Amino acid sequence: MIQLHDLYFKPFLSFHEIDSAVENLAYQINRDLKDKTPVFLGILNGSYMVLADLTRKFKGDCEIGFLRTSSYSGTASTGEIRLDMELDIDLTDRVVVIVEDIVDSGLTVEALSRKLKIHNPAALYIATLFLKPEVYNRDLKIDYVGQNIENKFVVGYGMDYNNLGRNLPELYVQTKPMKNIVLFGPPGAGKGTQAERLKEKYGLVHISTGDVFRYNIKNATELGTLAKSFMDKGNLVPDEVTIKMLNAEVEKHPNAAGFIFDGFPRTDAQAKALDELLESKDTQVSGMVALEVDDEILVQRLLERGKSSGRPDDANETVIRDRIKVYYKQTAPLKNYYQAQDKYYGVDGEGSIDEITDRLSAEFDKL
Ligand code: AMP
Repeated sequence: MIQLHDLYFKPFLSFHEIDSAVENLAYQINRDLKDKTPVFLGILNGSYMVLADLTRKFKGDCEIGFLRTSSYSGTASTGEIRLDMELDIDLTDRVVVIVEDIVDSGLTVEALSRKLKIHNPAALYIATLFLKPEVYNRDLKIDYVGQNIENKFVVGYGMDYNNLGRNLPELYVQTKPMKNIVLFGPPGAGKGTQAERLKEKYGLVHISTGDVFRYNIKNATELGTLAKSFMDKGNLVPDEVTIKMLNAEVEKHPNAAGFIFDGFPRTDAQAKALDELLESKDTQVSGMVALEVDDEILVQRLLERGKSSGRPDDANETVIRDRIKVYYKQTAPLKNYYQAQDKYYGVDGEGSIDEITDRLSAEFDKL
């Protein structure tokens, strides 16, 4: 992922793929215009790269000129175009090819085509490396297209975002970075309580694997029956089952701005599975934010919660202590996994709920 000004972009077309599109454009133009000594008019600034590469692939004689227009401010078309035409080539009776890097609404090419016809060319063609057919809705025919692309804001290969990105040899598409936070800590640290508050504050999706298991137990699903036998003893549900379930939960939210993972990952295998899942979505764990709480306070909190939560694993001190043991043995080592990547942020988890939310928010803001 790259950043230009305030926006983020991810790779979209490789240099090789762009070259194939230029090749395709050149093939069509060579086929029709090789012997016509055309005038190629590049539209500045965006088309400087395509004009250079296209004309190198042109097999006949030609002349080259540039026109300057502008209709974009940031990522949005302003609806008006400015035209600077100081052409030293007489277009009268010539075969003229307007060369664009990209045509979307078609505003620029339509205005240009109108203005250039006043010069009485023998023929006027429009060539564009990329066309967005979803948004192009004008009567004017686009004669030559290198490749159709979907309606997304792209930069690179001549195209810019507020003047940056033109020099990139590949094409990039705008993307929103996700905030994916692993909320970490032993049982009773307050992850669930805090996640409920933080998901609202940051517009994130909260996934608690413990909650999903409990929901399945309540609804007597196959998954619930399987999970219950492990949970009642304070043990972890097997990785294979948990990972599959977590993947399914993430898939339910294709447009999420990010996730708070609460109670996942709890093992090395789960941490690796989470990395793979997020990587498949071109994103990653932003950080592990851990609530650090003394063990005796945990036991007291869980016994207290057990009086009203109805959770069988909170009702009995032996099971509570077993869960804390399981945490230290299997889960706590994950601190090292994220620390090695500089992604571990420890937070004091003792104090009032509001105080702890403030401390967590300070870390969330940084990520
Ligand atoms: P929690 O609500 O996070 O305290 O989880 C309650 C119980 O659900 C745990 O003690 C485990 O038995 C099970 N569980 C929740 N998340 C996981 C996980 N990521 N891996 C394995 N078991 C889990």
